[in-house]
Formats: sequence, C-alpha cells, structure tokens
Amino acid sequence: MQMPDTTREDRPLLDVKGLKKFFPVRGALGTTVQEVKAVNDVSFTLRRGETFGMVGESGCGKSTLGRTILRLTEPTEGEARYEGQDVFEMDEAQLKRMRQDMQMVFQDPFSSLNPRKRIGAILEEPLVIHGIGTPAERTSKVLDILTRVGLQAEHYYRFPHEFSGGQRQRIGIARALMVNPKLIVCDEPVSALDVSIQSQIINLLKQLQAEFGLTYLFIAHDISIVRYISDRIGVMYLGRMVEQAETDAMFAAPKHPYTQALLSSVPITQPGARKERIVLKGEIPSPLDPPAGCVFHTRCPMATDVCKQKTPQSKEVAAGHHVACHLY
Ligand code: SF4
Repeated sequence: MQMPDTTREDRPLLDVKGLKKFFPVRGALGTTVQEVKAVNDVSFTLRRGETFGMVGESGCGKSTLGRTILRLTEPTEGEARYEGQDVFEMDEAQLKRMRQDMQMVFQDPFSSLNPRKRIGAILEEPLVIHGIGTPAERTSKVLDILTRVGLQAEHYYRFPHEFSGGQRQRIGIARALMVNPKLIVCDEPVSALDVSIQSQIINLLKQLQAEFGLTYLFIAHDISIVRYISDRIGVMYLGRMVEQAETDAMFAAPKHPYTQALLSSVPITQPGARKERIVLKGEIPSPLDPPAGCVFHTRCPMATDVCKQKTPQSKEVAAGHHVACHLY
C-alpha cells in the first residue's frame, strides 16, 4: 500500500518547543548569583511562506528569541527544528548550511556595515563566505538584488555613509537576500525609520516575500505595523508567549488581558466606532526577578489568587488560537 505523501511541504519550516534563554548574572567571585530570564518556555511554529509577527514591549525577550533561533546566542533549554533538524544540535558545517537558509535583518543595519567597504563588496561577502559563484557571477547577483530592493546599479561603488536610513535598511535586506534564504528574522527592521519610510520598507518586504517565497519572523513593538504585515501574531510578555493566533482572530477577539490592553491602544479606522483604552498600571517588572505564578499578575486587572501561585499553561481556545491565562 502506498503511504500518503506527508512531505516537507506539510511540516512547519521551523518548530520551536520549550525554548529558554537565561543570562547568568555573576557575583564578585564569578559565580552565578542570579539569572535574567529573557526567554522562558516559548513554543511556536513558522509555516512556509507566512509572516509570524512577534510583538511585545521592549525587554520582553522577543529579540533574544530571534537571535537564539539563529544560534547567534546559545539556548539554555529547548529545541528549534528547522526543516526537521534541531538547530541546537547542529555541528559547525550544518550550522553554516543552515545560516545560508536563515538570515537576519537588524534594526540598525549601519552598525553592521563596514564603513571602509563599498556596498558591492559588502553584498558580495556572504557569497564569498559560502563559496557561491565566480567573481563575475557574484557581481551580477549584487546588481540584480540592488534593483530588486529599490536601489540602483551605481550604488554598487558607494560607501555606507552615503546612504539615508531607509536606503541602509534596503542594503540590510539586500545582504540578507544574497544567499537565497528561506527564512528571514526581521528584528525591529523599521523602528528607527521615519513613518513615511517605514511603510516603504514594509511594502518592500511584502513584495520580496511574494517574489522569493520567503518566510518571515517579524519582531516589533508596534502592534499596528505587526498587524499590517503578519499572517499570525505571537504576543510576548516578560519572556513568555502569552497568546498566539491568526492576525484577524487576534484583533477580532483578543483573549489574554495583556493582549487586550495592547490592542486597545490601536486607533480604530472606522468612522463612529469607539473603544475603551485599557491603561496598564505600573512598569513591566525586571526579567531578573519576574513575578511568581503568572508573570503578568502584578499589572493584570483580572488577577486572582491562583494567578500569584500558578504559572498558566498555554491552551488552544479556538482553532489555532493559543492563550496562557487561568481565565481559560
Ligand atoms: Fe491575568 Fe491571571 Fe490571566 Fe495572568 S493568569 S493574565 S494574572 S487573569
């Protein structure tokens, strides 16, 4: 009997389970006296060709999450399966191959662009590292990618300081595209740009996704931007993923009290429609000493005694809609 073909295409591109990243805080004698729980037991998947938006306040661990998945920093615990293979178990050679597939676009591309190198050489570098193409082929690839990200061939000979912020981000995106990746982790890619430029870069990312079949993990603190670009959204608070759902489902009926507060700050575009803004009291606690039980209980308007003692586990409350809260 022939088995059904549940192939590669059916399984998620990336499957993250129970991921933890704690940073040790060392005392005078070099021993670990405390830990910053930057990412604490986070699980999610990335489907091929989708944009998964990861949103949360600054310091919630979303950037550390992106960096850990790419193994730019080592995890404390958990697994991240890329095409079925655990990224954290990969040896150097496997990691090098994986890095060709998984690229990153940073908030500030300028700091990662060598100021003494021309853009052509900067963009060719990933091809040289991965041993791809002849010198002539590399040059032709750079010229092709430059035009696809909205720059011109003449920019090949320019230095990073000769570009505007928006153009530098286009260069950052071009560099990520050079090695034909499948997945790009976009870490706050537009938060340093003017609002008018932000939409240009977001539209460029959408256009490139359609052109190259890319999958994005899009990390940002601005929920309106995340909504615009994402198929699904994950909400993080103090190292924990508190809710995840399809974008429309999340905006139609946010379940977690933190998500409800976050979404209440998004302006409504329909004329005449009104909604009440939920203002959270207090500051986000330190990840050095997160509250026991539910990490959100110190600011949650719905908190009860159980919230102070027991950590809520993530539950599927509707198809594809997961929430970690004792109310469900
Ligand atoms: Fe609020 Fe309790 Fe739900 Fe946490 S578990 S979000 S404190 S109601």
